[in-house]
Amino acid sequence: MNILFVSSEVTPFAKTGGLADVSGALPKALKKLGVDIKVVMPRYYAINRESLERLPISLGVDMGSLGEVWAGVYKGYLPDSEVEIYFIEHEGFYGRSGLYTDEHRNGYSDNDIRFIFLSKAALVLSKALHFKPDIIHANDWHTASIPILLKTTLKNDPFFDKSRSILTIHNLQHQGVFHKRAMEILGVGWEHFNPFELEALDNVNFLKGGIAFCDALTTVSKKYAKEIQTREFGFGLEDHIRANAYKLFGILNGVDYDEWDPSKDRYLAKNYDVDSIEGKAVCKEDIQRFFNLKIDKDIPLLGFIGRFAEQKGIVLLASIFEKLMQNEIQFIILGSGEKWAESFFGGMSAKYKGKFGSFIGYNNELAHKIEAGCDLFLMPSLFEPCGLNQIYSLRYGTLPIVRATGGLDDTIINYPEKNSNGFKFWDATPEALYNTTLWAVDIFKNEKRGFLEALKRGMRERFSWMESTKEYLKVYRSVI
Ligand code: ADP
Repeated sequence: MNILFVSSEVTPFAKTGGLADVSGALPKALKKLGVDIKVVMPRYYAINRESLERLPISLGVDMGSLGEVWAGVYKGYLPDSEVEIYFIEHEGFYGRSGLYTDEHRNGYSDNDIRFIFLSKAALVLSKALHFKPDIIHANDWHTASIPILLKTTLKNDPFFDKSRSILTIHNLQHQGVFHKRAMEILGVGWEHFNPFELEALDNVNFLKGGIAFCDALTTVSKKYAKEIQTREFGFGLEDHIRANAYKLFGILNGVDYDEWDPSKDRYLAKNYDVDSIEGKAVCKEDIQRFFNLKIDKDIPLLGFIGRFAEQKGIVLLASIFEKLMQNEIQFIILGSGEKWAESFFGGMSAKYKGKFGSFIGYNNELAHKIEAGCDLFLMPSLFEPCGLNQIYSLRYGTLPIVRATGGLDDTIINYPEKNSNGFKFWDATPEALYNTTLWAVDIFKNEKRGFLEALKRGMRERFSWMESTKEYLKVYRSVI
């Protein structure tokens, strides 16, 4: 089976979120199962060319009303694998500091053109490489043009006559909505500018078009696959997704246990596992010291890591913050994003010195240390397609407190149910978050045995890529 996997971000080359992690891991797991897979992404300015090979080809990409635009190609490999990754080079489109936004977090005004270009260039590249894909796997709105093109302008192209397309939604909030002049660049014909295909309120909606034309649609948890068909989570596309639900599958993301494993994590003060759990206390002391918190193993230590975005429940968190800090707890926050949240959480470390620590920014090493050192991990997300941090937390023996949504609901079983591995609340309200957090703190202090058992159960669980990959293969086979 030949697979062309196209994504706007791939770990470790460029990452803004979970999409990059999936794009870095799934192709490697697919390769292990014997498929021939090539990955394609843009060569952003920040990607170092030194370890890449410049291919002696130029791709002529038909950009509709913009005429033909030329791209260079670099080739490399996903780390520790034989998976080839191709980088589309275009100084004008990708030679910028950000992936999607400028330094003020404003989306680039030509993002429609940049990602139509990526989608089309990937297709031209597969021809140049004589790589006839059975499956083209597109991800999110950035590459959603691919399923559209395959069923329209390329419908009669013999090179793609056996190619089927999969589109994965990693986050429905971002749909790629642009002025309708993008239709002229996509070049698929105005007859497709209708409410069942590409049109939404007189704009072009790339994700909507991709959903209409792909052969199979997937998203990153079973619960999220159901949620996106409802008004609360559908971001306006719920009816469209319901109409296409016959081809929709929910497949939970795996996590990379080479990277996230407390028994061999290179960043930890001491490694530990289920049968050497004492080591976790050393990590707790280490992180308490780092954040100048009182060093005490009996005070429950709570953590939060993530983007400061409404999606992650930071408004809820901020609204209960001061009340929460009146209790005998400690709290650590690592994240960046919305400015108000950066200054709010950044400022609170002075007020609650010794009890609260924050690090505003992105720091992978610290993320590992926090996962290991905390007792409880907060994820009060309003929606969460899959979520990774709760799965890391399980492996690190840090019981997650989650809102029962999307992948959080699929992976966490509420204490004290059989097989429980965390704490859940349902309503996206400050009261529900506050009460559940205090309840978890109470279990930590007063039901030590039950807490420890739940924690060890979580540490033994595995959400491996192999299992998810087998499910993707089933979907691929079903459309071939
Ligand atoms: P999303 O993709 O919506 O941001 P996920 O939970 O799926 O959320 O993935 C987020 C990933 O980014 C996790 O690996 C998390 O540890 C990491 N991350 C988020 N913010 C930070 C940060 N400030 N520092 C380090 N890692 C972070």
